[in-house]
Amino acid sequence: MAHESSHSIEPSTQRGEFELIAAIRASLGTPPEDVIVGIGDDAAVLSVPPGEQLVVTTDMLVEGRHFDALTVGDAANAQSAAEAIGWKALAVSISDVAAMGGRARWAVVSIALRAEHTGSVADALTVGLRRCAESFGVAIVGGDTTASPGPLIVNVTLAGSLGDGDAVLRSGARVGDAVCVTGALGGSRLGRHLHPQPRQDEALSLVKEGVVHAMIDLSDGLSSDLGHVLDASGVGAMLWADRVPIHPDATRRAAETGRPALEHALHDGEDFELLFTTSPDVAARLATDGLCGTPVAWIGRLTGDADCVIAPDASQESAAVPLERRGYDHFRNG
Ligand code: ADP
Ligand code: MG
Repeated sequence: MAHESSHSIEPSTQRGEFELIAAIRASLGTPPEDVIVGIGDDAAVLSVPPGEQLVVTTDMLVEGRHFDALTVGDAANAQSAAEAIGWKALAVSISDVAAMGGRARWAVVSIALRAEHTGSVADALTVGLRRCAESFGVAIVGGDTTASPGPLIVNVTLAGSLGDGDAVLRSGARVGDAVCVTGALGGSRLGRHLHPQPRQDEALSLVKEGVVHAMIDLSDGLSSDLGHVLDASGVGAMLWADRVPIHPDATRRAAETGRPALEHALHDGEDFELLFTTSPDVAARLATDGLCGTPVAWIGRLTGDADCVIAPDASQESAAVPLERRGYDHFRNG
């Protein structure tokens, strides 16, 4: 057995493209019955019931941009980071499919990596992908593997099914709707951002009830993502600050930045919670009962105005001030 060094990854742990694909295939195991052809041919073949709509999304994670550089000098850290990257690469797409009201089903995964990462880092990446796939009932049916001259890049394309229904769009919100969010927001960069838990069960339960008008997952930050719903639906919003669910991480982040925890809840990204609009009756019930064990907060209402404002609470709407959109933009914040 090769000597394990903490200072370098042994060249013997490097693999060629076909060896690597074989290892990925073996690690992913047997696909479900609706996968007619999985990994191993020129393309995958899937069985889709007639009339069923599919929802398709893709997302890319780039080393040094979406996650810190994997240092070859620290093999154990590189492996645990790679596992988290694998989980996240798939989880963010499951979150998108869920926000459309779909059930995540089939993924293809493309990776570009340096030769030094074709051993234990690639294995750890596959473990993270597999864990996420198993947790959410997704089959990885193919992909592409290539060498990168620089950063590690992971791209996941995911298809989900809508069953016998239609997708839930950003454009379905109406004046008078209640604005709700699942979970608690802010401060995800303290670590939660690497382990997103897509709210697929919650989204499917809302869709099954037929009560949701518009939905989006919170990836860029509440102020930006709500803004997308408002733009698409041609409505405005009145939020109540005291109802915004502040994650303990937002409070910890506030202690570091000196800004209010509420600001972190409103503008930090990568919460991967759901924002949806529904009737006030349904919002009141969900705010009491939660959804699949996840808390739901009723944070405001939609208005016929063109803008988004925030008041201290529902009894002081006349004191509302404009809510600036300050979510993450890869080119402006980069
Ligand atoms: P081709 O040359 O036809 O593109 P490849 O040699 O790239 O074929 O891929 C062989 C098989 O392995 C295909 O089924 C492909 O989908 C699958 N595959 C390649 N890379 C990955 C990966 N990173 N994860 C999952 N499947 C992969
Ligand atoms: Mg290929």
